[in-house]
Amino acid sequence: MIYAGVDIGSTTSKCVLIDENRKVLAFEIMFTEFDRNASGEKILQAALDASGLSIEDIAYIVSTGYGRKAFLRTNKDIPEIIAHAVGTVEAMPGTRTIIDIGGQDSKVIELDESGAIARFEMNDKCAAGTGRFFEVLTQRLLGIEMSELSGLIYKSKNAPTISSMCTIFAETEIISYLSQGVPKEDIVAGVSRSIVRRVIGMGKAGQMSFKEPIVFSGGVAQNPAIVEEFSQHLGKPVTAVKLPQSTAALGAALTAMKQYEKEKAQ
Ligand code: ADP
Repeated sequence: MIYAGVDIGSTTSKCVLIDENRKVLAFEIMFTEFDRNASGEKILQAALDASGLSIEDIAYIVSTGYGRKAFLRTNKDIPEIIAHAVGTVEAMPGTRTIIDIGGQDSKVIELDESGAIARFEMNDKCAAGTGRFFEVLTQRLLGIEMSELSGLIYKSKNAPTISSMCTIFAETEIISYLSQGVPKEDIVAGVSRSIVRRVIGMGKAGQMSFKEPIVFSGGVAQNPAIVEEFSQHLGKPVTAVKLPQSTAALGAALTAMKQYEKEKAQ
């Protein structure tokens, strides 16, 4: 039996296929298109192609993420927080805190000893503190590739404080720093520091004490300099999960297996 987890995020869509032994057979990712249903279809097909399987082989599909309800083929949809918790505990058993920064939201999730969600906080109202801020910074303001970001942050010697709470105002602040001749590396370090502070502040405001082990996921976790920044600010080790954009889709695939077995037994 094969189970599919489809995570239709605001920025990227992902699909994980697993077998009945929880073995991952495929993980595929692409940018989410305007048509969320088509994005779900395309990413599922990409995972089937990558693993040499066909749609008839899939016993159950669970969707998650921002576009989860738009994906018509799904058998069940689940909230992202649950998918992240299930997927992260599978990838890194014993996780007590998840920090996830995606394209248009950021989350801090605290898990109890059994891996169940104890509390969580989420920002999906404002681009500050999300990957979108890095997209604006790299593409619009600095004209650099996302892959250059981490190396630049490491080079910074004197990062300015980005004090604006809103991306639009922060943009104006950054343009002003650029015109004063502040080097790119200091600007990117300032922006990453402001995002890290904002996400930690959000977790603390939600009464979270950042219990260890702390696992970082989402697209922004691909940036080693930001992973280190979190460790430094928290004074605790923070580990980026392997394939950080895959955890919610993995959690959805595992839920698909559980749900299929439950429905079969009824
Ligand atoms: P979602 O699930 O919300 O669609 P993802 O978890 O796939 O989003 O994350 C996408 C975000 O990851 C993009 O906004 C992008 O800016 C960010 N991102 C990807 N690589 C890096 C990197 N090296 N440094 C910082 N941000 C990154």
